[in-house]
Order: sequence, then structure tokens, then C-alpha cells
Amino acid sequence: MKALIFGSLNQDIVYDVDHFGKPGETTKALRISRYPGGKGLNQAIAASKAGSNVHMAGCIGPEGTWLLNELETAGVNATHIRIVPDTATGTAIIERDPAGANRILLDPGANNCCTPEQIRETLAGFEAGDLLICQNEISHLTSLLEQAKAKRMRILFNPAPMTPDILDLDLREVTWLAVNESECARLLGCTCDDPMQLCRLFRQRYPETGLVLTLGSRGSLSLQGQSLCRVPSCCVQAVDTTGAGDTWLGYFADGCSRGLSVPDSMMRANAAAALSVQVAGAASSIPSDREVSAFLA
Ligand code: ADP
Repeated sequence: MKALIFGSLNQDIVYDVDHFGKPGETTKALRISRYPGGKGLNQAIAASKAGSNVHMAGCIGPEGTWLLNELETAGVNATHIRIVPDTATGTAIIERDPAGANRILLDPGANNCCTPEQIRETLAGFEAGDLLICQNEISHLTSLLEQAKAKRMRILFNPAPMTPDILDLDLREVTWLAVNESECARLLGCTCDDPMQLCRLFRQRYPETGLVLTLGSRGSLSLQGQSLCRVPSCCVQAVDTTGAGDTWLGYFADGCSRGLSVPDSMMRANAAAALSVQVAGAASSIPSDREVSAFLA
């Protein structure tokens, strides 16, 4: 069984500054660094490091081909990524102050160039039972979900970043919806912060869809039918939680595609995310399967 991540690829340009400038002020960067990013890319690297046979699809501009090297180095098959001429690769301009606070300006760029035709051509290489993993950072998401449903692929959907149009999607045939608590509350149109209550409301609204709810330092929770499973997080000293959700999701996806039980998949995902929060960075902080196994031993 194959796993396809159809999602965003970004270049994250981080400018370290000694303070955030006011409107009209010019601030001088102390240092500039470049990292691979985008939820799609991070999740693809996580699932591949976990051990899955991962294919990634999406769009970049001609200057973004270094992202393909990053994916291939992590073992991801990148042949379904389209290079769109005369278009910029998705770019996040991140200003970071000495306290670690940040301001982010995001240009989706080529991520908005995904088309129903590219989706059709890509899905032609996959079959019923294969796993599609997607997020909310590319164009034509509705078409992607519809085409995957028509092929009877299993779908793990992470509707992040949450936007109002997600509420209009038909989520009945999504196998697993993966959200954090605030995304779940927004999806349900409530302000509730009690995970059990969120599960009850979710089940009323979506009677058939599986739910995985990540709870930050409190671990994660799943709801499949009426069966609820809560797995506490591993107790660690967090340094940087950027990308924790993507690491968690990539490892959970790997568990689903290799047929692990839901609690076992969640336990590995919690362990992988706990390792990732102890290291700065997003994609660069994703641990290998061997590191996760050693941590759990
Ligand atoms: P997101 O990054 O999408 O907001 P969460 O904050 O819920 O997602 O984190 C995802 C997962 O990462 C959690 O379910 C948990 O397993 C792990 N995690 C996050 N923060 C910590 C922490 N401080 N200590 C240990 N594990 C953590």
C-alpha cells in the first residue's frame, strides 16, 4: 500500500532581528537562514523517516528545486511535484526576535497552481486502499478530496490552517480528520476547550468520520465509531514546538499505512513529536524511526 501526500512546499526564510520594526522603520537582519517548510513537505518527510513508502505531489517554482533534494534525501519520491514556470515557490518570510517570538508573512506562490488535471494525473498512479494525506495549503482541495473518494482511497485530512471554507466541505468519506484542539473547536463552531466535549460534538456533527485530536503537551486522543482512545504525551523539556503537529501526523500516517493499531500508531506519533519538540526547527527536528524506537524502548 502506498502513501501520497498532496500538499504544500515552502521555503522558510528566517530573519533574526534584535527587535520587530514599527511601520515605516527599516530593521537590519542579524542573520538569515533558509529551511524547507510547508505542512505537506514536513509531513512527507516525517512519514518517510517513520518508514513509509511516501510519494509527494504539489507545485513549486523553478527556484525551489532545492526542496526536491531535501525530500529525496529523506527518501520521499518527488516525481509528482510540478515545477511551474514564471511562478515563485511558496515562501514564508519569518522575522524572529531574541526571545524567539516571530512574525510570519506567507506567499503561497506555486502552492496555488495545483489543478484538477494534475490531481487526476497523480491519482492515476494510486488505487483503492492507498492512503492520501492532505492539508489546507493548496488550491483545488475540494477536487482532490472528491477524486480520492471516487478512487476509494483512504483519506487522512489535516484541515490546517483552518479557514471558514473548510466548513463547506463534505467530510463524510474522510477516514481520519486530524486536528489540534483550537482547529477542532473552530470546525465545530464552538469555544469549548474540553477534549471529551469536543469529541461528543464532533460525533454528533460527523457520525462516521474518524477523529484524531492532538492535545499539545497532554498527548492525543482518537475517536473511531464510539471507541475513544487517549494516549498521554511523553514528558520532555520542550525547546521549540514548531512542526510538532506535522511530525505527529507523519508518524500516525505511517502507522495507518503499515497496519498498526490506532493506539500503537498514536504512541509512536506522540514519541516522535516529543523528540521533535526538544530540537529547534521543523523538518530538521523530525526524528528517525530508529530514534523513536530507542526512545520507546
Ligand atoms: P500543533 O503543533 O498542530 O498545534 P500540538 O501542539 O497538539 O499540535 O502537538 C502535536 C503533538 O506533539 C502532541 O499530540 C504531542 O504528542 C506532541 N507535543 C506537543 N507539545 C509537546 C510537549 N511540550 N511535550 C511533549 N509532547 C508534545
